[in-house]
Amino acid sequence: MIPREVIGRSIEGRPIEAIAIGAGRTRLLVHGGIHGDEPGAVEAVERFVTLLDGTGPRVVAVPAVNPDGLAARRKDNARGVDLNRNFPARSFCPGAIPGPTAATRYDAGPSPLSEPESAALAALVAREDPCVLVALHQPLACVNFDGPARDLAARMAAACGWPAVADVGYPTPGSFGARYGVDEQRPVITLELPRPASEGDLAAAVRALLVARG
Ligand SMILES: [Zn+2]
Repeated sequence: MIPREVIGRSIEGRPIEAIAIGAGRTRLLVHGGIHGDEPGAVEAVERFVTLLDGTGPRVVAVPAVNPDGLAARRKDNARGVDLNRNFPARSFCPGAIPGPTAATRYDAGPSPLSEPESAALAALVAREDPCVLVALHQPLACVNFDGPARDLAARMAAACGWPAVADVGYPTPGSFGARYGVDEQRPVITLELPRPASEGDLAAAVRALLVARG
């Protein structure tokens, strides 16, 4: 059993845990479960880390960024904030912002990193300074990329079978990809599984993560 480090606590006090495997410069930082209604994303990260024996490049994984949302099977955190709109990107918009359809609204929170869950993940990124960042989500079944990650996205797409796309079709202000990919020009992959995720889908996501690990 690989030890887990508590990197923060959710609004309701649940631990947010990170798993670090391997030595040297952190090659890959991967997270899942920033949206609580995406349990397949959590499961894929958990399965990925069980395959790592510490001999390859260093990987840091946060399977569940939003444990309160996962416990409640709800997308947002316990304050109703969409954590993937709460990052300090130039595109950040406070409060209620439009979603992918006219009927959907997201609450981005009052200010960037106002939420302990997004703040914990941002602090971990700052500490680890990874070469590649991957966020796992559901349900779009694609390999979305921000920043200089087009080639990596194509290789991950070949491994999992979901298409590489530069755009998910709607704006994502204040997202993880907006901060680290668009603003900081780091390679950021948003790996979207279908929902529900079948055994085959989970295996496909793990294959793509192994490509990102290098
Ligand atoms: Zn999501």
